[in-house]
Amino acid sequence: MAGKKRKAKAKIRVAHELPRRRRNAIQEAMAAHKPEDRPEWDRGAKWSNTRFYRKIIKPGTMRTVHMPLLETDLGDSWPIPVTILHGSRPGPTITILGGVHGDELTGPSTCTHLLSNAFTDEGKPLDPTKMAGTIRIVPIVNLPGYRAKSRYFPDGRDLNRHFPGDPKGSTTKRVAAQAWKYLFSDADAIVDLHSAGKGRSNMPQIRANLAHAGSNILAKAFGIEIILDSKPPSGSLRKAAIALDIPVVTYEGGGANTLDHESVKVAMHGVLNVLRSFRMIDGNPLRPRFRMLASGSHWLRAGEGGLLDMFVSAGSVMREGEVIATISDPGTPGITVDIVAPEDGLLIGAATNPFTAAGMPVGHFLPVSKHLKLLSDQIDTNGKFLVCGSQGEAVWREEQDIDEVAVEGDWSGGSVDSEWTITKEINETQADTFSDNEEEAEA
Ligand SMILES: [Zn+2]
Repeated sequence: MAGKKRKAKAKIRVAHELPRRRRNAIQEAMAAHKPEDRPEWDRGAKWSNTRFYRKIIKPGTMRTVHMPLLETDLGDSWPIPVTILHGSRPGPTITILGGVHGDELTGPSTCTHLLSNAFTDEGKPLDPTKMAGTIRIVPIVNLPGYRAKSRYFPDGRDLNRHFPGDPKGSTTKRVAAQAWKYLFSDADAIVDLHSAGKGRSNMPQIRANLAHAGSNILAKAFGIEIILDSKPPSGSLRKAAIALDIPVVTYEGGGANTLDHESVKVAMHGVLNVLRSFRMIDGNPLRPRFRMLASGSHWLRAGEGGLLDMFVSAGSVMREGEVIATISDPGTPGITVDIVAPEDGLLIGAATNPFTAAGMPVGHFLPVSKHLKLLSDQIDTNGKFLVCGSQGEAVWREEQDIDEVAVEGDWSGGSVDSEWTITKEINETQADTFSDNEEEAEA
């Protein structure tokens, strides 16, 4: 009996943070969703060249096309590189993009790695001769913003609030219309890679409208634990895509103006999982040990201004009352104010900018009342949650990429400012040290 109970428990899909009404809406949407029967994706279906921005891409090849963001005869048309991997067999068309916000670097870095030889060469995961369907990879949509190290387009607007755009509208609206036409409107799925805004950092997480069946399936296919159920903001790529019933998710990881290795790694893990789930590339998708479908996150805000001293970082599992940060003011020494976890939960986003004013966000907090153990069973020595896909070697690293170095020198002892002294005896010392391994060293 006890054994049976345990077995049943292991099947629990953690959705306790979703309100009942929302849960019902999701259930209804999933029940109404019929698995698509797409004869054009049949292995035996006709499959030929594809076109992207007037360029032809043959089956089993990849090609980088420069697509102008603005259709102009004069001035800069802002061409951006888009790489099309056109598989040798029929399948869906997926757009993977980064840099909608020009200062968010998780997407650009992820896309760049995916386009490297370690992924696209013969026999590698994205080898187009082995692939089914078509992948469009767009490392940086907002290239003018990226060059200016800015979130925005040069007219000061946020591209992710102007979809599906208007070819006769503002500069950003025109860009949105162009991107919408060529990159998104005919896609079978969209994965939009983001980071937190300036001065903040996010732990790897997926944001999706779970009451949209296609997006729900895509969100789970990504293969990570934290999924925030959120209705997309007006003008966002997510909203425009869902209006056309195109599955879409936003991945969030790291922060603006920084390159977070772990977030990039998890993003690549997620993209490959999505492609495997769609049967576009070989292999089975990796799945997390559990999923948290959540809508109950909230922002913890500074009650005072001054210097914010963060004790923990994004991804930390917190117990109620544990200190997240303290605020002090150099103008008023002797007084500090603690910001504590309001309940048990997960800090999914955290401030990284120590300059703070009353009302500024310090943390993005996901209260987890019932299933905290799922989180606390999967943490590192600093109490940080280990996201599925974040462990082990970087998937894009190859044996020949690993430099092996021998550091020569003797520590002269004393203070940390002491210098390394190179000694002639080092070769002898080394010979001594490694003599035990002589057999292994011999080849
Ligand atoms: Zn963003």
